[in-house]
Amino acid sequence: MVELVLVIEDEKEIRDLIRYNLERASFRVAVAADGEAGLERLFASRPAAVVLDLMLPGRSGLEVLREVRAEPMTRDLPVLVLTARAAEMDKLLGFEHGADDYLTKPFSPRELVARLRALLRRAHPAQEPGMIEAGPLVVDSGAHEITFQGRRLTLTPREFDLLAFLARHPGRVHSREELLRKVWGYDYVGESRTVDVHVRRLRAKLGEEPRLIETVMGAGYKLVVPPGGAAGGPVP
Ligand code: CA
Repeated sequence: MVELVLVIEDEKEIRDLIRYNLERASFRVAVAADGEAGLERLFASRPAAVVLDLMLPGRSGLEVLREVRAEPMTRDLPVLVLTARAAEMDKLLGFEHGADDYLTKPFSPRELVARLRALLRRAHPAQEPGMIEAGPLVVDSGAHEITFQGRRLTLTPREFDLLAFLARHPGRVHSREELLRKVWGYDYVGESRTVDVHVRRLRAKLGEEPRLIETVMGAGYKLVVPPGGAAGGPVP
């Protein structure tokens, strides 16, 4: 199946560059030059993913993103955001906006294609069935829910994937590169700061001390199951 990607970008040169590269990578491409047209296109043509520029005339990229996330039919649609401001990344990846990934301009078209492929792979994951328990965490992959000390966590899709991955391997140290590869699906060494941002958000949502997700200096992260907690593994 040839997947349709919608590109919402007002600068014609960039739009054409993205279209050219996506078509070369065997995607079908639809384009829109502003937020309003982008949303119309999006709800009419049901793309598999969206490349969204933040700085758009009229309705901004953030407004478009908010609308996409508010609509049940498009809530889980992979959105790759283009931004000129790397400083915005924290906010963008957060729950309030819900970008799945971002690229800072200027970007390499090859990287854009790689990121998009990773997002699409992640959007159709191989099902990992059943329940996993790791100490105070219970991961229900079927229901796409994680509870912590009996409290259901409100997580972005990526936060869910990261915490579920850590919960499947309690006590094991994972490097940022490994997490990018296995959770994000990147097949290259990307922005490892993305991992740090997500870990920080997860810690804030877990809101507990000592930390469940431990930083191992120079190595990466691991999930620490408190003594007396159940070992990781399937719930009987
Ligand atoms: Ca723009």
